[in-house]
Amino acid sequence: MKIIHNNILPLPGFGCMNILGLVFSRKPESEISIKTKRHEQTHTYQQYEILMVAAVVSLILCNIYSTWWYLLGVLVIPFIVYVLGFVVEATIPPYHNAKICFEGKTLWGKIKSVPTWLGKVWMDAYCDNAFEREAYMNDDNPDYLATRKLFGWVWYIIPSRARKDA
Ligand SMILES: [Zn+2]
Repeated sequence: MKIIHNNILPLPGFGCMNILGLVFSRKPESEISIKTKRHEQTHTYQQYEILMVAAVVSLILCNIYSTWWYLLGVLVIPFIVYVLGFVVEATIPPYHNAKICFEGKTLWGKIKSVPTWLGKVWMDAYCDNAFEREAYMNDDNPDYLATRKLFGWVWYIIPSRARKDA
């Protein structure tokens, strides 16, 4: 993992942005806690795992269809998996935001609340998708990275492993 201290990435308000082990940060490395480094290293492992799957799937498609164009899957498939992680989180229970946004309002009030609700669903999916949940729930555990199972994030898709602090 390499930490790149800069003033551009990630966008203001975000902590770190990790691309395959290159961690962009607005803070210098000396100000980044060991907990945050462990959190980001978990994301690095997740990205490597998804990239491995994307490479295997892309090579199989290249072989089946006899064209190298399917190698583009190495770039496209990880984004599809990440977006699916969002979509799964946005569509499975709990729907606690729906209660906050709609309960006790008139029909017109409910209609006006739809954009707010969609924003909350999106933020929930961003903060609480399986990738973040695995990283957040284990960043206090100094042994986690050594004992983590391959594709550990898959077990955080199910809601029973909700984040402790959520
Ligand atoms: Zn994270």
